Amino acid sequence: MLTEIRHKFNVSEIRKDFPILNRIVSGKPLIYLDNAATTQKPECVINVISHYYRNFNSNIHRGVYSISAKASEEFDYARKTVRNFIGAKSESEIIFTRGTTEAINLVAYSYGRTNVSEGDEILISAMEHHANIVPWQVLCEEKKARLKIIPITDKGEIILEEYEKLLNEKVKLVAVCHVSNTLGTVNPVKQMISLAHRQEIPVLVDGAQAVQHMKVDVDDLDADFYCFSSHKVYGPMGIGVLYGKSSCLEFMPPYQTGGDMISSVSFEKTTYNELPMKFEAGTPNVEGAIGLKEALDYVNRIGIENIAGYEKELLEYASYKLSAVEGIKIIGTAAEKTSVISFVVNKLNALDIGLMLDTYGVCVRTGHHCTEPLMKRFQIPGTVRVSISFYNTKEEIDYFADSLNKVIERLRK
Ligand code: PLP
Repeated sequence: MLTEIRHKFNVSEIRKDFPILNRIVSGKPLIYLDNAATTQKPECVINVISHYYRNFNSNIHRGVYSISAKASEEFDYARKTVRNFIGAKSESEIIFTRGTTEAINLVAYSYGRTNVSEGDEILISAMEHHANIVPWQVLCEEKKARLKIIPITDKGEIILEEYEKLLNEKVKLVAVCHVSNTLGTVNPVKQMISLAHRQEIPVLVDGAQAVQHMKVDVDDLDADFYCFSSHKVYGPMGIGVLYGKSSCLEFMPPYQTGGDMISSVSFEKTTYNELPMKFEAGTPNVEGAIGLKEALDYVNRIGIENIAGYEKELLEYASYKLSAVEGIKIIGTAAEKTSVISFVVNKLNALDIGLMLDTYGVCVRTGHHCTEPLMKRFQIPGTVRVSISFYNTKEEIDYFADSLNKVIERLRK
């Protein structure tokens, strides 16, 4: 039975916080349903970045003047906010990167190149984003190690018994997404981490599609590495986070070298800075960190549990509406899902559907969603993906479903 949208959630008030949601595109109100690709930004995030440039733009941690001190303070405070947001024990375990992709590359480069050798194995799942495939593939090629794949069911769920069988003394790391960007599946990462830890295998969790939908506590998960991108959690682009247990990070060599990551430099020898600066070479993305902090504060003000509750209802509603569309097949029907629905429509091309939905003002994603091996697993070239955020409404879902029916009718003529 479909539950009613009953959550105590004032979505019309929330929508006022996002200026872009009032836009008219090609004569139609914008219906933005591509939130897994990137989220829209609330006014407070836009304003805080503008405020930084207007009032205290300066390089951090070295200026002796007041605006640099202010910029440094705000930057450091952003790290503290991230730490609290994901439940890390210490700010020294929070490394700012360009995003999830760079965070994974950092671990593959630094941890991977020191801990993986010939004959070793890295485990990833069949539903990974290319960002959590290619860095491991390159590492394995270089080290003559093997990339092994954890299989999934037709519903898009990890087969835990198969995963357990793959864990052995050759495995040097498990790298798995918390939530699949294509299927919306929420993986049982806590259980997976605990199973890996029984054999002392560290686990990296790609949280790019998780932190915006659910409470994440890296300490409770006991993740060794956890990463996410600011732009998918209502913050600016070009910044993201790598959390690493200090017991791992301490023993890892720097990823990039240059200013800031050093303690002292002579032509004979360089010594490295403490964590987290050891992994942050060069001038950081100060505006990004400040914007990310504001975004996380915004999410905290609304409450991640409220967000999750409302999105769950929208997911149920959208799944129900879509199931009535003739010829549709939903790809990814896991019991635990975030508000992402991928689908194919009998004999129709996903790209055509996406392009035609755009003429109705509806933004969806089409194609392989940077998960080509997953498409191969389901033997399809691509899907249409609808990804819903807490600023979307039931009325938008209705409009989207009506537009989809019209598009299908036009394409079938
Ligand atoms: N991992 C997952 C699950 C993603 O969905 C994405 C982006 O869509 C990434 C990694 C890469 O994130 P970014 O491009 O922000 O580095």
